Amino acid sequence: MSGLIFHLIPHTHWDREWYLPRAAFQARLLPVLDDLIERLQSDAGYRSFLLDGQTVLVADYLTARPERKADIQTLVKTGRLQVGPWYVLADELIPSGEALVRNLLLGAADADQLGGRLDVLYSPDAFGHPAAWPTLAREFGIRCGVVWRGLGGEPGQERDLYRWRGPDGRDVLIWHLPPAGYEVGAALPAAADRLAGAWAAIRPGGARNREAHPRVHRRRPSRRAPRRVAPARPAGRARAAQRVPGVAPR
Ligand SMILES: [Zn+2]
Repeated sequence: MSGLIFHLIPHTHWDREWYLPRAAFQARLLPVLDDLIERLQSDAGYRSFLLDGQTVLVADYLTARPERKADIQTLVKTGRLQVGPWYVLADELIPSGEALVRNLLLGAADADQLGGRLDVLYSPDAFGHPAAWPTLAREFGIRCGVVWRGLGGEPGQERDLYRWRGPDGRDVLIWHLPPAGYEVGAALPAAADRLAGAWAAIRPGGARNREAHPRVHRRRPSRRAPRRVAPARPAGRARAAQRVPGVAPR
């Protein structure tokens, strides 16, 4: 396996309400985050944890454990716990575009209060993505993204890494998760001599697909400051709520 670098990113995917009621997921969330905070605090080698791209998990947790807010803020500020940029992982095609904008506004406000936002638009389990997805990312100052499903078939989408350009011409660097999805790392074998075979199966076509699209290296992000119709980082939830009629600060 010489020449390959694997980046294993500890994370969870959290369906807040789906095959169980929300209260049942809340009951599971508390021990998960209790344990995670303890691990991060006690083991400096446990570098970071990706909290599924949605800040609502922290809000849910703090309703039951308000005394842990300072611990979470310390972990977020030091990059150990990665939160946002979404408020919640919503379906991206059924809600209106405005709902997606409000989602990112609230996520940015929450993440700001906690110590900083993950600057990757992370959509690990949506069943499709709007064409304006790159534009949405750039409006919030985000230049990179991770998606699963809903892509592939068009020129430039054959491989894992490529630039996705929105209708307005702005683009984001996309990592397209393999068919096995966000949990592919959980199935990787611990034995090094079995890794090559496991990796080849991650994407159809095998090793070639782990390479970036050949045009990626020649196309760098524009140096022009992104035009914003929405603030990338509102100062807090109260300010975001002022801009979102009907959403009360809390
Ligand atoms: Zn899901």
